[in-house]
Amino acid sequence: MKATLLKSHELAPEVRHFVFEVPGVQELPFKPGQFVSFEATLRGKNITRAYSIASRPDGNRFELCLNLVHEGSFSPHLFAMEPGDSVEMTPPLGFFTIRNPAKDALFIATGTGIAPFRSMVPDYLAHAEAKRLTLLFGVRYENSIYYGHEFVELASRHSNFRFWPTLSRPEPSWGGRSCHVQNHLLEAIGDQRDLDVYICGLKAMVDDVRAILKALGFDRKQIIFEKYD
Ligand SMILES: Cc1cc2nc3c(=O)[nH]c(=O)nc-3n(C[C@H](O)[C@H](O)[C@H](O)COP(=O)(O)OP(=O)(O)OC[C@H]3O[C@@H](n4cnc5c(N)ncnc54)[C@H](O)[C@@H]3O)c2cc1C
Repeated sequence: MKATLLKSHELAPEVRHFVFEVPGVQELPFKPGQFVSFEATLRGKNITRAYSIASRPDGNRFELCLNLVHEGSFSPHLFAMEPGDSVEMTPPLGFFTIRNPAKDALFIATGTGIAPFRSMVPDYLAHAEAKRLTLLFGVRYENSIYYGHEFVELASRHSNFRFWPTLSRPEPSWGGRSCHVQNHLLEAIGDQRDLDVYICGLKAMVDDVRAILKALGFDRKQIIFEKYD
């Protein structure tokens, strides 16, 4: 199966939003939260990398949110793609999907770890109208709150949804939350223990948040995570 790039645009320095289609198929079935694997032979080496789908199911199209790892093997190749270029891919896979839409949930992302939540948040709100959902999103700078306007708009329409961006390197003019997502965990959870927590991002953050949740008494089945590295 191939994915053909339709267009891409910059979301923040070194982070881009990509829109792909899969030629020759009508539908690309997947569950919000799943990823595709891309494959290419680069400098004589066969390389495969996973990318979370950052859009809801939409015919044969899907969207990704990628950051450029300068010394990386694969992301520079994707950032060099022009509309019309193709890349080999496998169909969507993965278990980072909503377990129990009947429960309150906390979604935690840092950086491009927001990608699966751009698909999962609207899906969760569509299927669990009465349940409470918080999205805690950590980035360094205000201009890196990718898709922030979309989450703000969803929060304005769904009183059960809270969007909490937090900046680790805020400008003095920033009036919102600052520091790492870990600093806001206790406030997001409060006394509640009957909720599922979904975490996505780099290993260091994911492991740190899991350790805090375990110390708070969360069962491992309530902690669903995706590590990017
Ligand atoms: C299930 C899954 C879903 C993923 N979804 C996304 C996604 O939606 N968007 C995305 O940008 N990446 C995603 N990744 C990471 C992606 O697969 C690649 O690891 C990333 O593009 C770097 O690949 P590379 O070959 O350029 O770098 P490599 O040569 O593999 O070097 C990776 C190095 O860069 C560091 N690094 C910095 N930023 C990242 C990052 N975002 N991901 C991984 N490593 C990073 C790592 O710590 C590591 O040391 C996902 C990974 C997994 C396992």
